[in-house]
Amino acid sequence: MLGRVVLSRDQIANVVERLAEEIDSDLEGRSPVFIGILKGCVYFFTDLTRCLSHTVEVDFIQTSSYGTGTTSSGTVVLVKDITVDVRDRDVYLVEDIVDTGTTLADLIQLIEARHPRSVQIVALLSKPSRRKIEVPVDFIGFEIEDVFVVGYGLDFAERYRNLPDIHEYVPEG
Ligand code: 5GP
Repeated sequence: MLGRVVLSRDQIANVVERLAEEIDSDLEGRSPVFIGILKGCVYFFTDLTRCLSHTVEVDFIQTSSYGTGTTSSGTVVLVKDITVDVRDRDVYLVEDIVDTGTTLADLIQLIEARHPRSVQIVALLSKPSRRKIEVPVDFIGFEIEDVFVVGYGLDFAERYRNLPDIHEYVPEG
């Protein structure tokens, strides 16, 4: 069942602008490739990259770990790889939400093995109390408590991604 609004569209827009400003000042002199982690990142990724004043290359990667539930299966499977060559590039991995840290830890390893110049992590949301693996998140939008959220790209069983606000989701029963 769709619950209370955790973050409104206005709060999201403000934080996206703040993150874009921070990232922009970090982009000077770099050769950036922004890699969005599908599908949850899509709205955040497009809003964020359009706020940047630097030109950046974009690509996408897709993993699967949640199935149709609200807790991670703990196994990350690569569904779609990037097509860009990241050797000697400055990679910005853009994630919707960091929960246990498993997805990012695996993806950082995968990207590092391809010899980028640097890897930075950008996440709209973080649930620090749920972390099982410490991952270095360089740019964080909001920290939230341990609730399952949907909207602005985030789904429950592929639903609710297109909601403009982020809501708590309470599974039936
Ligand atoms: P992790 O590997 O850090 O445990 O989980 C990361 C992925 O789990 C996120 O990219 C996202 O797809 C999913 N996830 C984690 N927490 C939530 C949540 O509260 N809501 C939704 N919709 N997905 C979540």
